[in-house]
Formats: sequence, structure tokens, C-alpha cells
Amino acid sequence: GATRELLLSRIRDVPDYPKPGVMFKDITPLLADPAAFTALTETLAELCVRQGATKVVGLEARGFILAAPVAVRAGVGFIPVRKAGKLPGATLSQAYELEYGTAEIEVHAEDLGADDRVMVIDDVLATGGTAQASLELIRRAGAEVAGVAILMELAFLGGRARLEPALRGAPLESL
Ligand code: IMP
Repeated sequence: GATRELLLSRIRDVPDYPKPGVMFKDITPLLADPAAFTALTETLAELCVRQGATKVVGLEARGFILAAPVAVRAGVGFIPVRKAGKLPGATLSQAYELEYGTAEIEVHAEDLGADDRVMVIDDVLATGGTAQASLELIRRAGAEVAGVAILMELAFLGGRARLEPALRGAPLESL
């Protein structure tokens, strides 16, 4: 619909970034447009409410920018999932495979528990590795997954298929 067209029109394709052959999806024009940023926030917040989310997880770093206003709008808590070594308290960590090498993300263990249904928010789903690792963290913390909501899915990278088993029936919504 109209929201989808507005959002699409505010995403910039940057060729050969961060390395040759990669077409980077840049969301900074969307963030700079209050109508587009508001429409995105409200759409994601409605999704959270519909799925009965009690917490919103944002994936570092662009996921923070999207998830924080969504949490406020939906009236639920915001929980950061960060790259390893950035959170000061007791953490749960999850390693995952990249194209070359591995990465690791963490969450504060006390931020999620058995009473929580958690919506994961990020800007781009590429291979699905980051989102998949975040679902592992949420379940290891004893919480339930309400779903994954992302602005954009790079379908040719097959992230949806990689994520599917970890979703266990929870929705993956890409706008
Ligand atoms: P994945 O783990 O391969 O799915 O990569 C997803 C992560 O990389 C997300 O946190 C995205 O923010 C980031 N990412 C990958 N490709 C892009 C892009 O084209 N634009 C912005 N972020 C990207």
C-alpha cells in the first residue's frame, strides 16, 4: 500500500559498499523523513501489539534506531542485543556463522524471562544469521518469541529459509 511505497522511496541503494559487488541498502533518508519514520514506527508497533509482545529487542546498531520508538509506541520495554563485549552486566552470548568467520551477540540475562513474549526488530534481513542468533538468545533466556519484524528482506540471500526452523511458527514480517 501507500506506506510500503513511501518506505521504499526513502531507501537508498549504495553500490559497492562496504566492499565491491555489494549493493548496500541505506535507511538514513527514511530516518530523516518524519512522515516515513513515523509510518514505519506505527506499522511495527501495531505488529507488536497484534502479536502480544511484552518486549522489543533491537539488534545493534540500526535495529536500535527502529526498535526504540516502536517500544515506546507499543508501550513495552526496549532490550538491546549488542555485539560481544559491550554490555556491562551478566550476559548470555550466542556465536553465529558469517560468510567469512564468526560473530557473537549478547543480551543482559536479567532483561528477559519466562513472562516475556519478544519481538525482534532490525532494518535488513540478509543471510538471517543475526536474527537467528537473537532467537537463540531469547529462548535461552527462557522467553517466548513473538516474531521477527524487519524493514527489508534481501530475498536472494535466503535469510527467510535459514530463519524458518528457529521461528517455530512465529511470524517473520518484512515490510
Ligand atoms: P545477516 O545476519 O546476514 O542477516 O545480516 C543482517 C545484519 O547486517 C543486520 O543487522 C543489518 O543491519 C546488516 N545489513 C546487512 N546488509 C545490509 C544492508 O544492505 N543495509 C543495511 N544493513 C545491512
